This record gives sequence, C-alpha cells and structure tokens, in this order.
Amino acid sequence: MAIEKDPVCGMECTSSKITSVYKGKTYYFCSESCKISFELDPEKYVAKISGTEEKNK
Ligand SMILES: [Zn+2]
Repeated sequence: MAIEKDPVCGMECTSSKITSVYKGKTYYFCSESCKISFELDPEKYVAKISGTEEKNK
C-alpha cells in the first residue's frame, strides 16, 4: 500500500479525496488550499519531490 504525500506541505494523505492529476500522475492533498497552490505552480512541487527521492538514494 503506497503512501502518497501531499507535495505542497509533505503530509501523508493517501485517503484524501482531494486530488489533482498532473502529467498522468495523481497527487493527493490534505486540503483545497494545498491543491490550489500545487495547480498554480505544479512544476515547482514535482521537481521538489523527484529531486529529493534521487538524492536520498
Ligand atoms: Zn497539504
């Protein structure tokens, strides 16, 4: 079972019903305000997530 993190604030929100699809991937958000922040500048948050995962390895 994958744990999805809110890319904006970092909270785990697998069961959240607030989602947004960007470039074919579904992102989960803890609140509408986090979703709005993401949709205003998705590249910023997507780059932050993928960059962190690569550097942790
Ligand atoms: Zn959030």
